[in-house]
Amino acid sequence: MNATAPLDDRPIGPVTVLFGADGGKYPDGNSLLVRGGAETLIVDPALGVVARGDAVAGVDRVVNSHCHEDHVAGNHRFPDVPWHLPAADAAGITSLDHMMAIYGFDAGIDRAFRKVLVEQFHYHPRPDPESFSDGHVFDLGGVRMRAVHTPGHTRGHTCFRISWDGSGDEILYLGDIDLSGFGPYYGDAWSNLEDFERSIEKVREIDVRYYATFHHIGVVEGHAAFSERLDRFAARIGQCEAALLEFLAEPRSLDDIGKHSFIYRPNSGVIFAEPVERRSMGQHVARLIDQGRVDEVEPGRYRTV
Ligand SMILES: [Zn+2]
Repeated sequence: MNATAPLDDRPIGPVTVLFGADGGKYPDGNSLLVRGGAETLIVDPALGVVARGDAVAGVDRVVNSHCHEDHVAGNHRFPDVPWHLPAADAAGITSLDHMMAIYGFDAGIDRAFRKVLVEQFHYHPRPDPESFSDGHVFDLGGVRMRAVHTPGHTRGHTCFRISWDGSGDEILYLGDIDLSGFGPYYGDAWSNLEDFERSIEKVREIDVRYYATFHHIGVVEGHAAFSERLDRFAARIGQCEAALLEFLAEPRSLDDIGKHSFIYRPNSGVIFAEPVERRSMGQHVARLIDQGRVDEVEPGRYRTV
């Protein structure tokens, strides 16, 4: 299989960032090849890894930051090596049914998205994933990759802090804390807004030289630049909440909220836009009720206080 455009690689110490098409814009993403003295890992093999074909070889393990379609799209290219997933997400790779539970779509969208997973993202189940938890270190021989559990996007979502002998430089791989203009995604059954907010604060404390994301941004150098992008990324949460409070000037139901465009642009064509809007903003509604800023004025209808 050939890519439609040349895909770039960027070496940083023992890590090579394998950029996806369009700078790793969804459905593609940026994967990491991490080479130690004893072993080589690939992190989040994306569609761009599938497109590279045999050019990506010599991989001893696959490590996924979480179990989403775009992050596991290239796992099948490495059928004979262990696949490691965060413990809380590992079930998703064992069967398509388990995978669909992570998203939690209703029947119609579930059916359509299963097809997308298999046909566009090469979803291949595997009964024997190896799981890891927060603090686990993959020791590749002179190169170490430590798991930093950052739930919220999914239950298991994990960042990786990579260090190597002979250098004070480190890389923090952020997965889908992707610093994009889209902002944090917390619209799945296995997502959680407040966990995501805590995870943003957790990564903010990590001061390393390089930060790598799966989508769009690619590599950011220096903690100041990272922190500034992280602020802009995190600000989307407050912007969505402010838009919701405005929308709830009149009583609205969760169905009304699902049909309104807080997260996606109107007419985005995204097949799961409505349930994602509803689930994401539903978490804001629950929180705003707790804070006394929104009232349930009649059963199932909410209004700003
Ligand atoms: Zn994801």
